[in-house]
Amino acid sequence: MFDHSSRALTGTNILICGASVAGPALAYWLGRHGCRATVVELSPARRDTGFAVDFRGATHLTVLERMGILDDVRRRQTGGIPTTVVDDAGHRLADVPAEWGGGQIEILLGDLTRILHERTGQHTEYVFGDTVTALTETADGVHVTFRRARPRTFDLVVGADGLHSTVRRLAFGPESRFVTHLGYYVAAWEADNEPGIDGTALMYNVPGKMIMAVPHRSDRAKVDVFALLASGPIDHDRQDRRCQEQILTEALTGMGWRTATLLDGLWDSPALYFDSLSRADVPSWSTGRTVLLGDAAAGATLGGKGTGSALVGAYVLAGELAAAPGDHRRAFAGYERRLRAYVTACQDGGQATGEFLAPLTADALDARNRLLGDQDLLGERLADSVATAAGFDLG
Ligand SMILES: Cc1cc2nc3c(=O)[nH]c(=O)nc-3n(C[C@H](O)[C@H](O)[C@H](O)COP(=O)(O)OP(=O)(O)OC[C@H]3O[C@@H](n4cnc5c(N)ncnc54)[C@H](O)[C@@H]3O)c2cc1C
Repeated sequence: MFDHSSRALTGTNILICGASVAGPALAYWLGRHGCRATVVELSPARRDTGFAVDFRGATHLTVLERMGILDDVRRRQTGGIPTTVVDDAGHRLADVPAEWGGGQIEILLGDLTRILHERTGQHTEYVFGDTVTALTETADGVHVTFRRARPRTFDLVVGADGLHSTVRRLAFGPESRFVTHLGYYVAAWEADNEPGIDGTALMYNVPGKMIMAVPHRSDRAKVDVFALLASGPIDHDRQDRRCQEQILTEALTGMGWRTATLLDGLWDSPALYFDSLSRADVPSWSTGRTVLLGDAAAGATLGGKGTGSALVGAYVLAGELAAAPGDHRRAFAGYERRLRAYVTACQDGGQATGEFLAPLTADALDARNRLLGDQDLLGERLADSVATAAGFDLG
């Protein structure tokens, strides 16, 4: 096990880009080693919203425990809920057990981020509403320019800024070299609970499309809506919400069941998430004094256990940095050598998530629904997923 109270990184000047999961988790461990990290986050404030993410298996739970946040996370857990797959008339076709989607502990991403920020606020400098614009490596540091703040030089830079990482683009090359589109888009928004659901989520498919209504965690009058649609890459501005609303409306209109009323919520929803299902594969996670962590290094959007991997990655990266103070090459090499096989195996789990949730043909849809009726097979698949998540020895 790493000695995580070594103070070995006192005085080390580290910039982390991204303040969701991987970034604050790394700041936590760096703080344990005496380092006050700077975390720059594009959003104007800490994000308290977001979908549910989950943890499964001993590795995830142990890392939460070692961070001292397992109880906090348990207190905020949402608990996975079962899902019923319905036909056009709302009749039951199949059931998805709660553990399938919710893992052992499920928590809203915003709640997890808040817990991580609360644990790190004292020894971390958070800068919101800003981002890096250029990284220039010199003999003894990385000179960083920001969109708003004045330029600064850091010993090391960490890209924890997600699948569409800016750090990766600036230091490693264009996104097209590292990110593969997995053939689907995913959207999430809030709507009125017009289907009147409580305790069970409802999911409806036509070939290549899925829409799902999940009871809202705190407001029974609302549902969280998730939609998936099969599509090649769509050229759109990720900051342009109106454009995303139009893409979704065009793609989902006419789908049947309750889709029309769930779509009505799109325009008034306080938040809309819309992105491709994508996978990041970066041949080397570091270049010079810059290193990638979490989804920026090896994300897979859905089904890739990205939240747990981000926490495990932060633990290992901080441990390797503290074990080799002043020698980032050795630390980065150790981090990648220890972690890559595990993270890639987790990522692979996300490869078929799109086709599972929104099979492309009527036959494939029938086959998926039959699989959901086979409790033994489902149990085996779930056990495999937990085994993969637990497949890293934290020491
Ligand atoms: C609908 C959905 C459901 C999911 N469900 C699960 C699940 O059940 N279980 C699971 O393990 N995972 C799940 N995931 C994946 C999970 O959310 C990610 O793997 C996890 O959040 C990765 O954490 P991260 O910190 O690496 O990246 P992110 O959470 O993507 O955070 C990146 C951060 O960087 C910030 N940022 C982006 N660009 C910049 C920039 N240029 N400058 C500064 N900051 C920037 C962003 O605002 C964000 O705060 C789900 C994802 C989606 C989309």
